[in-house]
Amino acid sequence: MNEHDSERIGGLLAADGMAPSTSIEAADVIVLNTCTIRENADNKLYGYLGSLRAIKMERPDLKILVGGCTAQKDGDLLMEKAGWVDVVFGTHNVNRVVELMDHADEWGPVTEILEETSSFDDFPSYLPARRQTPHSAWVTIAIGCDNSCTFCIVPAVRGKEISRRFGDIIGEVKALASEGVSEVTLLGQNVNSYGRDLDINGRSPVFADLLRQVGSIDGIRRIRYTSPHPKDFKEDVAEAMAETQAVCEQLHLPLQSGSDRILAAMHRGYNAERFLSRLEMARRTIPNLSVSTDIIVGFPGETEEDFQATLDVVAQARFDQAFTFQYSPRPGTVAATLDGQIEKAVVQERFERLVALQNMISHESNQAMVGRSEEVLVEGPSKKDPGVVTARTRGNRPVHARGEYEPGTYLTMEITEAASHYLLGTVVS
Ligand code: SF4
Repeated sequence: MNEHDSERIGGLLAADGMAPSTSIEAADVIVLNTCTIRENADNKLYGYLGSLRAIKMERPDLKILVGGCTAQKDGDLLMEKAGWVDVVFGTHNVNRVVELMDHADEWGPVTEILEETSSFDDFPSYLPARRQTPHSAWVTIAIGCDNSCTFCIVPAVRGKEISRRFGDIIGEVKALASEGVSEVTLLGQNVNSYGRDLDINGRSPVFADLLRQVGSIDGIRRIRYTSPHPKDFKEDVAEAMAETQAVCEQLHLPLQSGSDRILAAMHRGYNAERFLSRLEMARRTIPNLSVSTDIIVGFPGETEEDFQATLDVVAQARFDQAFTFQYSPRPGTVAATLDGQIEKAVVQERFERLVALQNMISHESNQAMVGRSEEVLVEGPSKKDPGVVTARTRGNRPVHARGEYEPGTYLTMEITEAASHYLLGTVVS
């Protein structure tokens, strides 16, 4: 979501006549689009702003803008902590970035934070974008979140859930396809509740309808989406995935914890058994499904027994990939006020055990791919070796192979070797 907002900010600046700079030193304008999901992201922002201070002292004309979730959360405090910033804007007024910059030029530093997105027209997706890749695009289908997971700052900084109009999403994907985009990723905090606030001839559209419609657009070969919520993920979406050729066999289903007690404290709305049964349903319905997840270690009150329950669920679920996080309290969330915050060393030790288990499972899962023939989409040359290309399978596994191919090319590769986090292959055609 945040990366997509950055593309929109880039698009607005480009529409105003600016061009991207290759270095901070040469830039006239620096925009930091911030994330506040974890404490570390906040710390990084303030550290980085400190390093920009000297450049601003040397070149007072330089404009420094800070937007995104930390800006939404901290507002005026950000100006207090870093007085050399020119503009602070939030998540609901990305569309105002150029006006605010002009205002700062004329009148001095400005902070503008809105409580909510005022209209459909302020949706980031209606703003011009400067896409990072020509063949692949993000498409926002909803903003905000109506859930109340106790660890999460998102509802506070992104506001209530608003679905984007069905026809507008289809229109955007058609336009992207006509520009040569073949892969789209549909974005929402909880895609399964898409459409509840909309009405098309007396009926609310559902996410499964959207998957089928997007899948029928000529030129779209791959559809991904993030994220579904395990409490709301039902058969209709799994069936739409299985029946729509363009929808990739990939599901990101965030577990967060395997302990029923901790899941209840997190307000997740499911228990371990329900999670596993939804996962089983998805795997039964969608052949060759790759599954990834998110897990938080060290939520307040997590005992060794709770953590063991997480390890048990991870062992049963056999996720192909997991994004693992050490809990960090976010001021403004319920969890930050709970008793039983866990000592850092204990969290670290549990985290390492979880990562070791998951690495083993990921390695075995990748190992099972060896010998298979896979359609892959080229992302570009590998960062380490320009003679090696990096591509991605439909199941979202990165594959490296010798050769030079244009980003956006579809290839067939035979998978020859596997590690925990990537595959190696050879190009067949
Ligand atoms: S579903 Fe929960 S974790 Fe996801 S954005 Fe909403 S509140 Fe946060």
